[in-house]
Amino acid sequence: MKPATYAVLDLQALQHNLTIVRRTAPNAKVMAVIKANAYGHGLLRVAESLQDVDAFAVARVDEAVRLRLAGFTQRIAVLEGFSCHAELQALLQYTLDAVIHCPEQLTLLNALASDSVISVWLKQDSGMNRLGFKSSKITSAYQQLMQCKAVKKPLGLMTHLANADDLNDVTTPIQLTQFNQVMASLAGERSIANSAGILGWPSALTDWVRPGIMLYGVSPFPDQTGEQFDLKPVMSLHSRLIAVKDIEAGETIGYGGRWRCEKATRYGVVAVGYGDGYPRYAKTGTPVLVNQQRVPLIGRVSMDMITVDLGGQPNAKPGDPVRLWGGGLPVEEIAQWSDTIPYTLLCGITQRVQIVEHPPVKA
Ligand SMILES: *Cc1c(COP(=O)(O)O)cnc(C)c1O
Repeated sequence: MKPATYAVLDLQALQHNLTIVRRTAPNAKVMAVIKANAYGHGLLRVAESLQDVDAFAVARVDEAVRLRLAGFTQRIAVLEGFSCHAELQALLQYTLDAVIHCPEQLTLLNALASDSVISVWLKQDSGMNRLGFKSSKITSAYQQLMQCKAVKKPLGLMTHLANADDLNDVTTPIQLTQFNQVMASLAGERSIANSAGILGWPSALTDWVRPGIMLYGVSPFPDQTGEQFDLKPVMSLHSRLIAVKDIEAGETIGYGGRWRCEKATRYGVVAVGYGDGYPRYAKTGTPVLVNQQRVPLIGRVSMDMITVDLGGQPNAKPGDPVRLWGGGLPVEEIAQWSDTIPYTLLCGITQRVQIVEHPPVKA
């Protein structure tokens, strides 16, 4: 029995997207960002098919430990580093790279008694104002790390771009200048670029790049799709029609009666809703593929169902295939119709959605 709602993952597309990263940043090592369950695609599955990257990056210690316990031997950077002694111990035990972004971490490192060593990335806050040391504090943090016995030398040096997805924004050049100035006299490999940095800012391509969203075939830029960069979507979300009905002019459909039918039409009920991760805020008109053809979403998205106008497809019947995104229907487009970004849609796929791998993984 095929599940009503499922996501198909095209693992060859994942490989293909990695080649685009390498082609765009031919001299850089690749740290594949697979945080948040690999942007909803499945942490271990994605790590498995990206075996030949130079390192993985995740946000949290537990994500990294899961990778180690599953047998991955690559370098794994924990982007949020550690915030207590127990987390630092876990990083040491599992040979994980820590991002060092605040003075409390230096204190924890200096208090280490063990003679084990940890690889670290010193993070500069060059303007994002999230994690990292401000420029004026970088040199001192660098020196403290260099003096710390538990820290492996040389250090890695990194920063994160706040507005790289806007090619006209002045913040990125300012951040790049800040990073280059502050780091000029410090030894260590450099890492700056996320996907938007890789695709949009050649001067952000340093020793290491950190692609996330582009690996999954999706554009980091709000007004472009992955296809424009020769990326291929990895995830497609599928369901099927479970009812086909007719409605009279003047009637309404769904919760709140928000959608009122102007002329009699045929419509369909699809087995997908926000309980699967389809966005509650998708507006009437959001495209949905029924039998490979676009039809508009009508009415509100429920937890388990949506309704679509089948006026243009009077022969559609229960059981017919429906695609919510992926393939000919970029998730970037669905994000626009829902006033969100594709990242949230991919990460938001819920446990109920069954994942089907293509090609199937070896048992
Ligand atoms: C999430 C993240 C990335 C990847 O960003 P994308 O926009 O998905 O490419 C890179 N670096 C850091 C520090 C991140 O948090």
